[in-house]
Amino acid sequence: MKTEKKAVILFSGGLDSTTVLYYALSKGYKCSCLMFDYEQRHNKELLSAIKIAKSVKAEYSIIKMCLPWSKDVLTNKNKKIPVHKRLPKTIPPTYVPGRNTLFLSYALSYAQSISAQTIFIGVNSVDFSNYPDCTSKFIKAYNEVLKVLKTRIIVQTPLLKLNKAQIIKLGTKLNVPYQDTWTCYNGYEKPCMRCDSCKLRAKGFKETKIKDPAI
Ligand SMILES: [Zn+2]
Repeated sequence: MKTEKKAVILFSGGLDSTTVLYYALSKGYKCSCLMFDYEQRHNKELLSAIKIAKSVKAEYSIIKMCLPWSKDVLTNKNKKIPVHKRLPKTIPPTYVPGRNTLFLSYALSYAQSISAQTIFIGVNSVDFSNYPDCTSKFIKAYNEVLKVLKTRIIVQTPLLKLNKAQIIKLGTKLNVPYQDTWTCYNGYEKPCMRCDSCKLRAKGFKETKIKDPAI
């Protein structure tokens, strides 16, 4: 009997991870979405994630994660989201220390318990915002950790070498419902179009000449 292809998707409801979910589905994986509620500034992303996971009938789990020591601006509601003229060249204040390491560790635990062979994460290092846990070096090292732990699970990063425009092109082919994704760091009614995340998304759509259906 052929073993079923199963995957855990680290899923935020944003543009990248939704593209990854659709990519994994297109490759025949039965997908289980793992979402995190780590007291973000707003829950718009999480609501998008739940809506999208339900729409593809994927199983999902939400981990409530508490980082009481956190000083970054994404989880600290008293700090303002910075607006940069250019994307920063150093680690930006929106970096949540250890975030992807924590996410992957939860994903490993989930994957082992449901016998999934693969963990998908939507990191990309072309347009990336200088987060050190979004690099190929980091993913390679984490795959080594999975081997040391005697698992056969591998982390796959289909977007790693793609820029935002290429991700949007791939997602459009896969019929990703970009209108349902949430990218903005702020939780206003509409995307702010000023934060780094909004700017990167807008640049990607502009380059593909596709209209962003979420705007
Ligand atoms: Zn924004």
